[in-house]
Amino acid sequence: MPIPPRDCRARVSAVRTLARDVLEVDLDLVEPPALAFEAGQWISVPFGERRVRAYTIASSPRSASRLTLCADVAPEGIGSRWFRGLAPGADVRFKGPLGGFVLAPQDTRRLLFVAEEIGIVPIRAILLELPIGRPAVLVYGASEGRRPYDDELRARARGDAAFAYHAVSERDVVEAVRAVPIDAGGVAYVAGGEATIKEVREVLRGRGLDRKAIKWERFW
Ligand SMILES: Cc1cc2nc3c(=O)[nH]c(=O)nc-3n(C[C@H](O)[C@H](O)[C@H](O)COP(=O)(O)OP(=O)(O)OC[C@H]3O[C@@H](n4cnc5c(N)ncnc54)[C@H](O)[C@@H]3O)c2cc1C
Repeated sequence: MPIPPRDCRARVSAVRTLARDVLEVDLDLVEPPALAFEAGQWISVPFGERRVRAYTIASSPRSASRLTLCADVAPEGIGSRWFRGLAPGADVRFKGPLGGFVLAPQDTRRLLFVAEEIGIVPIRAILLELPIGRPAVLVYGASEGRRPYDDELRARARGDAAFAYHAVSERDVVEAVRAVPIDAGGVAYVAGGEATIKEVREVLRGRGLDRKAIKWERFW
């Protein structure tokens, strides 16, 4: 059963810079004091009538009273400016959890993750919950000096022989997806910009993956 979204209030407890124009923010929940969600889900922040921005929960559902968000604030629109302005003590209102870019617990298919830039956030959250030894491949395309969670992902790859990590330039994501081993009976999770998602989906279909086995989250 999906967790119904609700209106929430939280207070910023910490702000960190992870890379150029990439910020991480911890939110301590006030109301409700804890929020149930699934790894890969997001929250919706309102900016007036019918105007919202979505931010994925980067942290584990095991931490239900403190959520971490991670944003690329380079786009400089209303969402980026809001995120950049967050400081410890700030009051934050949002609705959540939302979205179905989540791993079904009973799904045992081989996993391929593809992240373009800040599209790594839901995949990072899913990986935090993925048991060591579960076969998975990650292709992560990011621009120079802007690869949040890279150290953590490298550490996982060193400690988990079943996890293959391919860090590539943002221009090489599609080529890397052409080259990685693919299990036609597997499932793929792709997150990032629309153009790359479209190309990656075509490559994966061409390599035998069923349309329904390709899950995607379009950030921009
Ligand atoms: C389900 C979902 C989850 C999301 N989760 C996150 C998240 O965890 N972290 C995060 O940073 N963003 C996330 N986003 C994107 C976020 O909601 C905003 O769209 C983003 O912060 C830009 O908002 P903005 O108002 O600053 O810019 P806008 O005014 O919305 O956009 C300005 C321009 O920048 C483009 N653009 C927007 N984002 C990017 C980007 N990252 N790279 C390149 N071009 C971009 C837009 O297409 C537009 O042309 C998510 C979006 C969705 C739909």
